[in-house]
Amino acid sequence: MITLETKKGTRIEVIDLCNFLLDGGTMFGRIPKVMWEKWFPSDRRNRILMATNIIRIFHNDGKVYQVDAGLGSLYTDKERDILGIGESKPERKSVDDLILTHLHFDHCGGISDLNVRRKVVVSKKEWEDAREVTVLTKGSYRKKDLELIEKKLKLVEPPIEIAPGIEIIPTPGHTRGHTSVLVDDEVFFAGDLIPTYAHVHLPCIMAYDLYPLEVLEVKQDILKRARAKGWKVIFEHDPYEPVKEAGDLDIEKLKKHRLSAVQGYQYN
Ligand SMILES: [Zn+2]
Repeated sequence: MITLETKKGTRIEVIDLCNFLLDGGTMFGRIPKVMWEKWFPSDRRNRILMATNIIRIFHNDGKVYQVDAGLGSLYTDKERDILGIGESKPERKSVDDLILTHLHFDHCGGISDLNVRRKVVVSKKEWEDAREVTVLTKGSYRKKDLELIEKKLKLVEPPIEIAPGIEIIPTPGHTRGHTSVLVDDEVFFAGDLIPTYAHVHLPCIMAYDLYPLEVLEVKQDILKRARAKGWKVIFEHDPYEPVKEAGDLDIEKLKKHRLSAVQGYQYN
């Protein structure tokens, strides 16, 4: 766990709930393996290690806001093998509000292990698209997650500040209704807009992204704002470098730091 504190005194915990494995090719889209494997070593099945970093925000209103919920524990043996996850015995945590960047199972499946006291906050567009799947999206949305979310659902149309200093920002492209979260204009939780530090390199766009040109445009804009404002950026799927300072958000810094960060990782 990494703990951050904003200048206003808001405490943010960055927690990797569970690691899993995904095909490296789909995570890097058009980037050839000779390039991405330096940043993400792969296993025999071409899979790379993924984190599910979520954040818990301890607000000075006394409430705890969580952003995203990780994979959760509702998987078949076949799914566990494909995703490289073992049996888990989750502890049931309580939070006041859960904010979801989008509704893909690796971001919201953990709702089954969470006690949400108030609302589950989701963008209206994302909710609509999750309920009307297409050939390309049906593998990412699960009915069982949506049923749990629906019980506490609060639909919003970002940009919106849901509590003082907690802003939900539209960052479309991965999905039409994808959002990110900015805390105290200082800490930016990117969701799947920039899933790992390696994706700071602009051409790294996932094959999962439904609107790649929109990802490129939004990512460029967000990185520009992050550097100008001095934001820290949190990468939801990066197991090696989950948090980076504004000054590190460019390809030259990435090349300089990345190799030493991933060195020594051994797959089972
Ligand atoms: Zn996603």
